[in-house]
Amino acid sequence: MSTNVTDPASASVTVLGLGPMGRALAGAFLEAGVRTTVWNRTPGRDAGLVARGALRAASAEEAVAASGLVVVCVVNYDASDAILRSDSVTDALKGRTVVNLSADTPDRARDTGDWAARHGVRYLDGAIMTPTPTIGTPDAVFLYSGPADLYAEHRPVLDVLGGAHTHLGEDIGRAAAYDLALLDIFWTAMGGWAHAVALARAEGVSARELAPFAQGIAAILPPLFEEFAGDVDSGTYSGELNPITSGASTMAHIVHASEAHGIEASVMRAIEGQARRVIGLGHGTDGFMRVAEMLGRTRRP
Ligand code: NDP
Repeated sequence: MSTNVTDPASASVTVLGLGPMGRALAGAFLEAGVRTTVWNRTPGRDAGLVARGALRAASAEEAVAASGLVVVCVVNYDASDAILRSDSVTDALKGRTVVNLSADTPDRARDTGDWAARHGVRYLDGAIMTPTPTIGTPDAVFLYSGPADLYAEHRPVLDVLGGAHTHLGEDIGRAAAYDLALLDIFWTAMGGWAHAVALARAEGVSARELAPFAQGIAAILPPLFEEFAGDVDSGTYSGELNPITSGASTMAHIVHASEAHGIEASVMRAIEGQARRVIGLGHGTDGFMRVAEMLGRTRRP
């Protein structure tokens, strides 16, 4: 079922899943005048949306039947499978487009792509990289992968969700691959921030006192990402300005000071361990990003 709609106001969309993100997506569609049908496993989460003009569906099957474009946003692919792969919903989806904005692994996205192909469902995978308040604003970031023509067809309607939309290629797992790699950065950084606060507080420094300087440290990172990405892709890991031996020494200080306060330092121990393995392999004059190369080489089959 082609839904080549260039004017969002004449489009219709179904949103399955009304957690905080599903509600934000449905709200942005409504705001743009898109005819929006909503459904959630647990009833009652649609009240605010219905008050704003959303159409309430009594079942997922009814919701799917209401629109050519079905956006799914639930906790993971176990949840989206539970909705999409029931016989009646799968039947109703035939010929329609599903855009799955739930987060999970690339393998799960590819498996869902295979399932969709077997059942005549047109399928795009996607990932949302920004929090709910950004949806419908210029700050939102959406990633997609799957058939380029399907993306082009639905782009005008997806655009009303705001911000930047990027199609990453036809490999259906690619959006999830970016999502996981980017969330790897996010959660490691959040883990670092939580640990830093615990260590600082043990030394009598409040989180508020530390915060402005933490922002300064965070601001150092974006240019380093850009610079070191080039190093990794070209296989050069110059440590001329900051050798990994120096970094490992700092990491050891964090481990010792934390453990002296009774604060576990397992994450920093692991990172120090990786740096020391690189040094042990004879790369002590290289920079820290040599770790990425080592991790890639030591991955299990
Ligand atoms: P959650 O990740 O908590 O997902 C809640 C939704 O999943 C609800 O609609 C819930 O239904 C549904 N759900 C859970 N299990 C099942 C199941 N077995 N069958 C059917 N539905 C199920 O909240 P969000 O809305 O915040 O997130 C949705 C997705 O968006 C996630 O993949 C998340 O990673 C992603 N995301 C969220 C962001 C955010 O800021 N919140 C930012 C970027 C991405 P019910 O109400 O019935 O429990």
